[in-house]
Amino acid sequence: MRRIFDYLPHPEQQIVVGGRVRVPFGRRMMIGIVVGESDHSEWPVEQLKAIDEVFDQTPIWPPSLLDLFKWAGRYYQHPIGEVLSHALPKKLRLGEQPNSADIEVWQLTEAGAAQDSQSTKRAPKQWQLLELLKAGAQERATLSAQGVTGATIQAVAKKGWIEPAPLSALNESACCQPTQPPATTEQSIAITALCSRLQGFSVSLLEGITGSGKTRVYLDVMAQVIAKGKQVLVLVPEIGLTPQTLSRFRNHLGVRIGLVHSGLNDSERLAAWQAARTGELPVLLGTRSAIFTPMANLGLIVVDEEHDGSYKQQDGFRYQARDLAVMRARNEQVPLLLGSATPSFESLANVEAGRYQHLTLTERAAGGQLPQIAAIDMRQQVMSGPLSAPIINAMEQHLQDNNQVLVFLNRRGFSPVLLCHECGWFAECQRCNRPFTWHKGFRRLVCHHCQVERPVPHQCDSCGSTQLVPVGQGTEQLEEALQAQFPQYPVVRIDRDSTRRKDAFENLVADVQRGHYRILVGTQMLAKGHDFADVTLVIIADVDGALFSSDFRAGERMCQLLTQVSGRAGRAGQQAQVLLQTHYPDHPWVQQLQTEGYQQVAQALLAERKQAQLPPYAAIAIIRAEANDETKVAEFLASAESVLSEAARGVNDKGGVIVMAPGPCAMVRKAGRYRWQLALLAPQKSAIQQLLNQTLGEIEGSKLAQVVRWHVDVDPHDTV
Ligand code: ADP
Ligand code: ZN
Ligand code: ZN
Repeated sequence: MRRIFDYLPHPEQQIVVGGRVRVPFGRRMMIGIVVGESDHSEWPVEQLKAIDEVFDQTPIWPPSLLDLFKWAGRYYQHPIGEVLSHALPKKLRLGEQPNSADIEVWQLTEAGAAQDSQSTKRAPKQWQLLELLKAGAQERATLSAQGVTGATIQAVAKKGWIEPAPLSALNESACCQPTQPPATTEQSIAITALCSRLQGFSVSLLEGITGSGKTRVYLDVMAQVIAKGKQVLVLVPEIGLTPQTLSRFRNHLGVRIGLVHSGLNDSERLAAWQAARTGELPVLLGTRSAIFTPMANLGLIVVDEEHDGSYKQQDGFRYQARDLAVMRARNEQVPLLLGSATPSFESLANVEAGRYQHLTLTERAAGGQLPQIAAIDMRQQVMSGPLSAPIINAMEQHLQDNNQVLVFLNRRGFSPVLLCHECGWFAECQRCNRPFTWHKGFRRLVCHHCQVERPVPHQCDSCGSTQLVPVGQGTEQLEEALQAQFPQYPVVRIDRDSTRRKDAFENLVADVQRGHYRILVGTQMLAKGHDFADVTLVIIADVDGALFSSDFRAGERMCQLLTQVSGRAGRAGQQAQVLLQTHYPDHPWVQQLQTEGYQQVAQALLAERKQAQLPPYAAIAIIRAEANDETKVAEFLASAESVLSEAARGVNDKGGVIVMAPGPCAMVRKAGRYRWQLALLAPQKSAIQQLLNQTLGEIEGSKLAQVVRWHVDVDPHDTV
């Protein structure tokens, strides 16, 4: 519900804005949050219900953060109640007290310290735990982020090798700062520039090529902030919170690092939240939702890989954590540091407009060159498998030189279509009207749009033929083909299917780094944040898909992805090579990526955006609707359109909101529901916000709004 409710406090009740109360709601009791006080109400006082119980004497959030949430609710057109509930750890939503948190800390016993790898030979996980604790005591939450399970902890504790430790052990243990190599000249310049701006609000964009040592810059700046007794909030993409990241932060900073990630249980989450809120935790490292954590003494926010799509929540409260970080930094008057090798166009436009400070790192910190990129024209190749002859030859060479090769293909499964050779029938998801993907290993057909599964048919549904053939290829097929082509070199596949088990991803990456595999096949999971020092050749098996997308951001995304994947190569200093397989070697940005690099492609694509008046030079919001009955969806959006157009006439004098005609989404049917959308475009974000504020009440009140499922997406990530 897009509204707040009035209640009457008892004179003896001490109510604080931002605190929790229990109130009667309908026939139930519910926990609510006080968002404001007033001396009047639209309702007669006699009709107001009383507050049943007050939970908090002090606000859950400081006023600046509560203001941020209220702003976010208005900006993203999301009910304030849901925004606050989203920001609140579950245990607090249920009425528990924040101090109820207990943190589980483990340390080595003398017996544990005396063990060597021989004693745990058959239990590598146990040895890993002992090794981790050699550097000092750690929280269970930190251990679990490094792939240690509760079962392993219990088993090792039973042997008497580890024991629970007091919280104070954490601070003593973290101070194991090994000496760091000196910062490079470029790093020093960036660090100095950033450290001169630690007072008040500012935004800096650190654009550094992959391997240029951005993390080192963050760490040196963070150390200065921490030395002043202040806290740092660090956001990383969903997949970026790796054991390596964590140990790097611990070793460099020598302080306790709190973690927020999806693997935490409710107590651990609350514990980190509370430690951050009271100011005792110097650093909080987390994914998207960590932006909601209160910090008593915030001194700096860092957003790593700021271009990453995982910062945008894709359902419910559709916020963009990077953008909220900008607002939060402004509210709390602290500096914000955004870092990326491939900055988002939004941030580049802010640099261009003079709103962000721009710092660059153009060289690899540990030496070595960026890989050379070359396109392989597939039109002239005879294809005997998924990869063309020049690519196979190049692989052969790099493998003979004892290097690793990474083959990137952003499509899981064996083949995206399973087709009848005799009549052309293909297995299709009835709920999405899209072909099923054949997963040979699981022996299933899986719909990648709604996740529905079915057994692989032996016969064509239409003509009964048994000649069903795979069309197109996914990573599973690529893995099989490459293993057949290069039987002497072990191949590993890294995608969501091969890493379903907890820790599987970490283990596979570790095996790759140890050199167990020579050929890596994988999806974008491979693109993010991992160093594969021995990879000297990167193959992009299919570039062309992105050239056909109708999303205006497809070019930006593909260039980011290609640059990030390429950046995995040659980190140990050897000259590395990237080969793009394409039917369109003359395409402008395929050309530019080869000769000039991300920055230049970005400038060219940005110029196109400016010309076309698209984001970041304009604002977009989308209203999406879906239902089993397509006419209802169309009708709902048509009526929304007329409400919006009518109101837009008023706004148009100032800002000019264009209300686009509703139409089917690119994927019109998903999980049995028909999907349509309506887009709003304006030169200014404020114009769209104003228009939506004026009209959503009416749109929401219509009868059809109760029948179809719909939502508003402000600054949408996907627009088709
Ligand atoms: P980025 O985040 O920009 O991709 P990283 O921070 O991961 O880069 O650094 C890349 C590599 O360079 C890492 O192995 C890191 O240890 C190393 N490195 C960073 N700074 C320096 C430095 N000043 N001297 C030597 N090596 C460095
Ligand atoms: Zn058939
Ligand atoms: Zn489906």
